[in-house]
Amino acid sequence: MSLTLGTATAQPGEITYGEFDLVEHPLGGSDRLPVILAQGQHDGPTFWLTAGIHGVEHAGIQVIHRLLTPELVRDLRGTIVAIPALNPAGLRTMKREAYYHDGDPNRLFPDGKPPKMDDPDKEPPSALETAYARLFEHIQATANCYLDLHCAATNSISFVFRDRVLFRRDSIARNRARQAKDEHETENRAQAEAVDAKLGEMCAAYGHSVVNEFPVEKYLDEKLHRSTTSAAVNVAHIPALTAELGTGHMPDPHIVRASVAGLRNVMRWLGMLSGDPEPITGIKVVHPGFPCRRRAVARVPQACIVHHLVEPGDVVKVGDPLCELRDVWGRSLNEGVLRSEYDGWIISRTHGIVHYPNEATFSMAIRDDGPMVGPYPDDYFKN
Ligand SMILES: [Zn+2]
Repeated sequence: MSLTLGTATAQPGEITYGEFDLVEHPLGGSDRLPVILAQGQHDGPTFWLTAGIHGVEHAGIQVIHRLLTPELVRDLRGTIVAIPALNPAGLRTMKREAYYHDGDPNRLFPDGKPPKMDDPDKEPPSALETAYARLFEHIQATANCYLDLHCAATNSISFVFRDRVLFRRDSIARNRARQAKDEHETENRAQAEAVDAKLGEMCAAYGHSVVNEFPVEKYLDEKLHRSTTSAAVNVAHIPALTAELGTGHMPDPHIVRASVAGLRNVMRWLGMLSGDPEPITGIKVVHPGFPCRRRAVARVPQACIVHHLVEPGDVVKVGDPLCELRDVWGRSLNEGVLRSEYDGWIISRTHGIVHYPNEATFSMAIRDDGPMVGPYPDDYFKN
């Protein structure tokens, strides 16, 4: 049960606080991650919980504050490791990114390849990427389960992203015989399928709506395999989910409460708390009857103003009207409406109503018949 992260050391039956060194500033001082360790009196799993890697997404901080109480610790088996502010620079400036790393901070976690330090024409890892790699070593060494708290878009409903699970076809040892390589692939696939099965159980335990991440090719293109939770799933083989908690800069108290309840239910699934799952109330939970993945949809055919006709959480079918298209004077354009090309449900409207041609007007969860487990491209680890 001994667990130390930065300056915090877990104590049975207590909540302890500390800091983890992140990035040194050139003009003095540094950014440190706040660390909270909540440990029960009895042995049990270690559950990591993080928030605030995108500086405009604030609800997760409140979720962590409201979850970690003395009452929770009294009943707890095992340890919760919580970091409520993974990107202090972004939170401080209310920007998605940190001002000392040009790019999405949630695409910096390890992908299992060694960092490329030997090509002078390529940028070496930034200070933030190096720091997250250090943090990830602790996740890999201690976590049995991990959940990272985000927010999707203004007025989006609460849901979780379920990552695709990748496996290596090639043998890590290059000189193995063909038979050994095939055995290795079978073993790797079995391990990936086992993690994917745990992800399904974890989604059910949390009890909010579920959206699968993009299919493997787009998932890799978007560098989503280098998110916090994908690194946990695909490099460390730890069940991990990304929770999306509605509007980022204006947390909805109903979603915050429902997330706290969902997290306690995940802990019941892990055996960290006893008792039956508590009901998830006060939010929309969509059960469309089939698995769904995300897609930006209802792209406008011409420059226009849109009037949305459906709400986040609405279930829609192929052919249902999604939005009206008008010119700036209010006159109908095209055939007047854009209709859904898909069965599924509405995650959110895109921000704004003033659109150029080809811009999407909704983020939607559409029917997903694709596999949740798939191989890395054959050359992935060779480049
Ligand atoms: Zn986010």
